[in-house]
Amino acid sequence: MSDAYLGFANSPIGSRIAAALGLPQPQPLERFAPGQPVIRGTVLLGGTATSELLTALAGIFHSIGAQTLAHRGLPQWTATANAAGLMTGRWGVEDQPGEKLKALVFDASGLDDSSQSDALYQFFHDTARSVLSCGRVVVLGRPPEACANPRKATAQRALEGLTRALAKELKRAIAVQLVYVAEGAEGHLESTLRFLLSPRSAYVSGQVVRVGGASQPAAALDWNQPLAGKKILVTGASRGIGTAIAEVMARDGAQVICLDVPQAQDALLEVATRLGGKALALDIGAAEAPQALVDAALADGGWDVVVHNAGITRDKTIANMKPHLWQAVVNVNLSTQERINEALVASGALKPGARIVCVSSISGIAGNMGQTNYALSKAGVIGMVQSTAPHLAARGITINAVAPGFIETQMTAAVPFAIREAGRRMNSMGQGGQPVDVAETIAWFASPASGGLNGNVVRVCGQSLLGA
Ligand code: NAD
Repeated sequence: MSDAYLGFANSPIGSRIAAALGLPQPQPLERFAPGQPVIRGTVLLGGTATSELLTALAGIFHSIGAQTLAHRGLPQWTATANAAGLMTGRWGVEDQPGEKLKALVFDASGLDDSSQSDALYQFFHDTARSVLSCGRVVVLGRPPEACANPRKATAQRALEGLTRALAKELKRAIAVQLVYVAEGAEGHLESTLRFLLSPRSAYVSGQVVRVGGASQPAAALDWNQPLAGKKILVTGASRGIGTAIAEVMARDGAQVICLDVPQAQDALLEVATRLGGKALALDIGAAEAPQALVDAALADGGWDVVVHNAGITRDKTIANMKPHLWQAVVNVNLSTQERINEALVASGALKPGARIVCVSSISGIAGNMGQTNYALSKAGVIGMVQSTAPHLAARGITINAVAPGFIETQMTAAVPFAIREAGRRMNSMGQGGQPVDVAETIAWFASPASGGLNGNVVRVCGQSLLGA
């Protein structure tokens, strides 16, 4: 489904009309294409103090090959980094007034007390106008619940308000995120920074990500083919978001096992064949589905990643809803996933270091008219991810979820015009996302280098106002 208004608002005449009438002026999003560098442009680093995180950042930017400058608030660290050949210079409004920046990364892990927040003000006050369209801002902190004292925990928790407000303020499709890195987990940060700084995260903004310690050290891998050799099950792969997930996984080197209902077999076969993968026609809602999947996985030598994407809607207000509509949605969207995960884990059909990625929805966060069944199921997915994560960690398995907002698919094309337009515009990006935006986020969770991500729920919603 194309967004005609996006094209209009970016045409020479349309942009003038939109500006004159005060209409939304969404910026076309930059998206990733194979072979592109992670960041095209300069990264500016800032921070409250020198820290272990800053040291890790120097290594990560070296690995990414990004042109990096240090903000004038970091004089001591700049000298060290310059000596190591990592920094190309110093940045301050008076030093380089015209220099445009593609990304800002601020290490706030040294913020011990709210009275020190001036450092954040200074950095973002200096730089806010210098960030290019489709730029990236990442603030790094420490998980408040693990801070040594209430003052530090308060200062770290306060970062959420800053980043969410910045994400709304900077506009021009600039995405802003907060990443809480647990002490000792610095070595697991690279996959997250690569994702959040690159066009892969085009439609992700205003999110809080937690990077923790992993049972395994971060895997060294070919960042151009991070899923090489991995066997990945994608449910609901015959169309929509599921097809995009299978495409991105295959692009990143995986062998995909594409699953969908038997009625969708023709489309499923087309997708699987095109991607050099396998097709598995199965109704996951059927009682025998968990065992069938265990058998298929074991026959395949085990799977590395399972993506629970298949989902259905059967919308009615609860007073008008028949019991079978309630049961079908809760079963397919939630209970089935619980049963499948339990069966795959118990049977050893998932390989060591496996990843489970679930698809929730902002409806599961905000609720939605006529969707009590769907919202319950999608909120339940979040509950499943958060409650299962610690248990799976003991087995070296991670589980995370994405919660899409308004994504341009057949499902949303069927929504009445006025509601569709509202869904598209009521977010910081002023447009709907593409299925590939959800797929890229899932690929980040699926990466062997993402062992530090467990129990996260990341919205792919352009910072939707719903559920904010
Ligand atoms: P879609 O309806 O286009 O595709 C869903 C796929 O799942 C279909 O191919 C369908 O046949 C398959 N499926 C349904 N029940 C199944 C079953 N019992 N067994 C096997 N396969 C089954 O939907 P989509 O828009 O691509 O959405 C994909 C996921 O993203 C869903 O979980 C949906 O709830 C979620 N989501 C979508 C949006 C959006 O804006 N499109 C927003 C939030 C969340």
